[in-house]
Amino acid sequence: MIIVTSPGATDAQIDHIRERVESAGLRTHLSRGEHRTVIGCIGDEDRLRGVPLLSIPGVETVHPVLKPYKLASREFAAEFTRVPVGAVELGGPEVVVIAGPCSVEGPQMLGRTAARVAAAGARALRGGAFKPRSSPYSFQGMGEEGLELLAETRERTGLPVVTEVLDTRQVELVASYADVLQIGARNMQNFALLTEVGRLRRPVLLKRGMAATLKDLLLAAEYVMSQGNPNVILCERGIRTFGTETRNTFDLAAIPVLKRETHLPVIADPSHAGGRSHLVPALSFAAVAAGADGLIVEVHPDPETATSDGDQSLDLDAFDALMDGLRPFAAAAGRTLAGSKAGNAEAAVEAPVAGVAAR
Ligand code: PEP
Ligand code: MN
Repeated sequence: MIIVTSPGATDAQIDHIRERVESAGLRTHLSRGEHRTVIGCIGDEDRLRGVPLLSIPGVETVHPVLKPYKLASREFAAEFTRVPVGAVELGGPEVVVIAGPCSVEGPQMLGRTAARVAAAGARALRGGAFKPRSSPYSFQGMGEEGLELLAETRERTGLPVVTEVLDTRQVELVASYADVLQIGARNMQNFALLTEVGRLRRPVLLKRGMAATLKDLLLAAEYVMSQGNPNVILCERGIRTFGTETRNTFDLAAIPVLKRETHLPVIADPSHAGGRSHLVPALSFAAVAAGADGLIVEVHPDPETATSDGDQSLDLDAFDALMDGLRPFAAAAGRTLAGSKAGNAEAAVEAPVAGVAAR
């Protein structure tokens, strides 16, 4: 920690600042300039975090030297972390694409979507069973029935399941079905929930809050990791700004910033960032070019009938086209991408789930 005093700080004030720092167990080193004095604090910086240094008379600015997040920081890791998602890893050479509907609506739409996205190269199936809706009158998700459909679809397609957990009371239930627990933007700072999913080893997909800084996001990841769960995937999904042309403002620079700050895998959600399906390819290409380790994309077999986020959902053909368009960007970024045009031909086989009412 480095403390800079205000111009005209008196010797008595400087002595008092030093006493406060030293009483926290650190040593101080003074460097007197013509107008200001710089006080270097030597020792365990964490001991000073709780001290309101800016409130001490004569202190102008305080500059921490170490990151407030430790486990999430690249400073504390020798290598980039790879997080298992089913049989693949996020954070390795492959750009991992997670795709599926915003909400699980029924077996037919889920089965069809899963078969097609798998054939096109998606490595995991997304789908919300518990939905965080801005309005209490909107569709809230199918609940446990939706989780069951996700698990059945995993059985048939082999795709691991990514689904959101909204509440500490649901963690056990959702974890009994999900391969990856999604923490949504609205819950990024739900510290009780972060702590609860941190007690498991199940990978956590942590979305950036709508008004969260990247430091906030990394501190949220730190909550999960500090409980013993190292498997955190960070997701840039756009933030709230004054712009109205897109649902959120996609913070592209967040990707290289995070890749510099943390060893955790970083993915992008072009669907919630743009809010319109026609924006999804460009945002996806940009994210991969900027170094994203993966994407999470909303796909629906008939977006105009979707119960949530239809406007931003790609249809099945548009997802095929996205994957084809992504390939040169992945290659240019030195990454691989699963799937091929030949694979898409297999997509013609879209077996329905037997014995469950159609949607
Ligand atoms: C979602 O993935 O459907 C979702 C609700 O995302 P976010 O939390 O980023 O809004
Ligand atoms: Mn959605």
